[in-house]
Amino acid sequence: MREEDLQHAESYRDRVSTVSKAGERKWVYASKPQGKWYHYRKILAYAYMLVFAIIPFIKVNGLPFFMINVPKGKFIIFSFIFWPQDFYIFAIAMITFIIFIVLFTVVFGRLFCGWVCPQTVFMEFIFRPIEWLIEGNPGQQKKLDTGAWDFTKMYKKALKHFIFFVISFLIANLFLSYILGIDELFHIIKEPIHDHVALLIGLVFFTYAFYAVFAVLRDLVCTTICPYGRLQGVMLDKDSMQIAYDYKRGEPRGKFKKHVDRTDGDCIHCLKCVEVCPTGIDIRDGLQMECIGCTACIDACDNMMTSINFKTGLIRYASENEISAGQKFHFNARMKAYTILLSILFILMVILVVTRKTIDTHISRVKGQTYQELTDHKISNLFEAKIINKTKADVSVTLKLEDLSGDIKLIGAKQIVLKAEDINKITFFLEIPQSQLKHRSNKIYIGVYHGDEKIQTIKTTFLGPFI
Ligand code: SF4
Ligand code: SF4
Repeated sequence: MREEDLQHAESYRDRVSTVSKAGERKWVYASKPQGKWYHYRKILAYAYMLVFAIIPFIKVNGLPFFMINVPKGKFIIFSFIFWPQDFYIFAIAMITFIIFIVLFTVVFGRLFCGWVCPQTVFMEFIFRPIEWLIEGNPGQQKKLDTGAWDFTKMYKKALKHFIFFVISFLIANLFLSYILGIDELFHIIKEPIHDHVALLIGLVFFTYAFYAVFAVLRDLVCTTICPYGRLQGVMLDKDSMQIAYDYKRGEPRGKFKKHVDRTDGDCIHCLKCVEVCPTGIDIRDGLQMECIGCTACIDACDNMMTSINFKTGLIRYASENEISAGQKFHFNARMKAYTILLSILFILMVILVVTRKTIDTHISRVKGQTYQELTDHKISNLFEAKIINKTKADVSVTLKLEDLSGDIKLIGAKQIVLKAEDINKITFFLEIPQSQLKHRSNKIYIGVYHGDEKIQTIKTTFLGPFI
């Protein structure tokens, strides 16, 4: 390796590629990648956007396919409704998802960021192509940015930012449809705006947030803000697949000269891999947290290698052990441990979902009330039941005292009809003959029945006089 390359290789981790020595931000003007991987990413990205746009419109049995209604505490996933009472399933699902991401990262590096993360997908396949279309290639963009504010610059900048803002507004609406549901969103749009000021504020906030992310922050989201990116260092090891430069084959790098016998390595120092990088790094410096695994540098280098009749794959998808020692990828002990943990969590989650109650009852005595002695030697307690009907149909249920004889007298209703997808509150008196009470505080069981089928048994306490 040449002296200047050696110095660079030892010092690059001391600085951030997108920050100048003076501490100012260096804007990344990335070239348009071309090649096999970019083609695959493009197909995946547009399919992904299509799915993202379609999901809010999909309904199964009248229920949205996916809806995270945080204000109402109602979550619909794969058309199954989850309530705050199902939070434990949600927590297990989140842990499972995190373990999946960790396992995926340990095996495949930061591939998620480059191929599936919405930030990258929207940035690289909507916003940046629009920028290339309006402002031209990186050289033309730089010229425009450093040039005087003439009519062309004003026109191009205004047009670009207007389009960016409109797209951000559309993404914010789509994002809201995942929270409120598409029907509710359309309903709100049709109503006078002053009836939904809070929503309007939310919409404006999200629009500006998306606009800031795609027009201003861009690569800073991946390199500085995103916590997942910051965790790469602890997740990757020498067996993790990643976008890697084959320094054994590439070094010492040296310019390509036609018809001259080459004594250098295969890297011809053309910098094409750096020019296409959306985070502005040089992959030849080694694995860096800023690398989002987008594969643009693989395409750029392969194109260059092909044009000079060299073997492709100088930058490729490989583990550090493969590059340094020629070892093929193997599923190491850490990966196996994560796989076992993930399988256990996944099985647990499936069991919890399958055994989840669709009618969920909570019964307790009304606070501040003790007992009443009735004239016929019965003792009466006032109870409150909260029954969540998670199904989308009204359901009739009855409450029965188990093991003891006693009467349940509903207040304000003759029978219990649970409204669909709602939390139903019922108050009732429970009257038990005093002769059956053994203590001041007696454990009792109340059965919840749908027809003859017992859905649930609730344990609670019944107060009586001192015996
Ligand atoms: S180094 Fe390569 S894979 Fe990593 S972000 Fe830059 S272009 Fe993408
Ligand atoms: S594109 Fe390939 S040959 Fe060109 S500088 Fe990068 S690694 Fe070297």
